Amino acid sequence: MNIHEYQAKQVLKGFGAPVASGVAITSASEAEGAAKQLPGPLYVVKSQIHAGGRGKGKFKELGAEAKGGVRLAKSVEDVVANVKEMLGNTLVTAQTGEAGKQVNRLYIEDGADIDRELYLSILVDRSVGKVAFVVSTEGGMDIEKVAHDTPEKIVNVAIDPETGVTAADAGKLCDALKLDGAAREDGLALFPVLYKAFVEKDMSLLEVNPLIVMKDGRLRVLDAKVSFDGNALFRHDDMKALRDETEEDAKEIEASKWDLAYVALDGNIGCMVNGAGLAMATMDIIKLYGKEPANFCDVGGGASKEKVAAAFKIITADPRVQGILVNIFGGIMKCDVIAEGVVAAVKEVGLKVPLVVRLEGTNVELGKKILNESGLAITAADDLDDAAKKIVAAIK
Ligand code: GDP
Ligand code: MG
Repeated sequence: MNIHEYQAKQVLKGFGAPVASGVAITSASEAEGAAKQLPGPLYVVKSQIHAGGRGKGKFKELGAEAKGGVRLAKSVEDVVANVKEMLGNTLVTAQTGEAGKQVNRLYIEDGADIDRELYLSILVDRSVGKVAFVVSTEGGMDIEKVAHDTPEKIVNVAIDPETGVTAADAGKLCDALKLDGAAREDGLALFPVLYKAFVEKDMSLLEVNPLIVMKDGRLRVLDAKVSFDGNALFRHDDMKALRDETEEDAKEIEASKWDLAYVALDGNIGCMVNGAGLAMATMDIIKLYGKEPANFCDVGGGASKEKVAAAFKIITADPRVQGILVNIFGGIMKCDVIAEGVVAAVKEVGLKVPLVVRLEGTNVELGKKILNESGLAITAADDLDDAAKKIVAAIK
């Protein structure tokens, strides 16, 4: 689960990280009041969407010459003018895709005088089995380019879970970021704080880009991106409350309500499967026959008819889906339950694309009987290979 920048900063502030004061608003009428709460004379108006690259982003409605999704303002009036221009418009960034994201919330922040922009993130480094810091002196808006062109400018420091961030680790990070004086002092205090926030809140990513050294020599968290490990959210009701469902894929939200694993992809064959291994095999064989999966929904083991019906509806709701392949191996899952779920879903939402069903395993005969007697235009398949050939042929 991702949260907005202003929420991430609130969380980090709670742990003691240096962040600017700011006010989040959702209507232009709040802009003046928000700005007046800040010291000025420099303000920043920041689009709150779940995507990075806002600074270099462009508003669809405003044309290429207009300023981006993060704007400096030099007076309260300037803040208000920018808010009016930005709010409600669609911001397209390198991370949103062409469709962009509607900006429904802006964060008005006390502006900082920046000396240097640094990069810092904390993530789970699977190669060493530890939480690790990734830092670079080349922070700001183009870290992907730095990683690609000058990887030596990116430094990794893995943290021993037994000790947490040691003085030696913090020193290494300060050296890598070339921090001295007050900035170094701030860094020595900040790194353990960020690590603590990461671990205590079960984050999967904490990215501060940029972490800035201000003209007065102090550090400040200028941008913050936080993702939480969804499997640990059950123990963080306070973080769960920060969820903004308007930022998420509606189909993924629906899937998570039913405890279904749904993954959206780029092709045009929708797949309902049970088990991750069968999902991978199904996608592989679709590709082998020259097509691409649009998504897959894993109904897992022991799903109910209602859950299967929900899965089927989620798959068909994707407008790119031109054909559906149901590929189930009934072990714990029973084929007749799958058949009943599919029939129930089709009765409710109709079936506008070809459907190929391959069932095997527990209660397979009963499952096939239910599908045959349903009167639906379903193509039965004998095995994986046959199923993939049939669905690919059906959409050609
Ligand atoms: P992103 O583009 O989505 O990553 O948004 P950021 O929050 O990282 O802001 C983009 C850029 O705007 C930063 O790299 C800074 O250069 C600039 N910026 C943001 N806040 C301030 C500020 O308080 N003062 C100044 N001078 N620049 C800022
Ligand atoms: Mg940034």
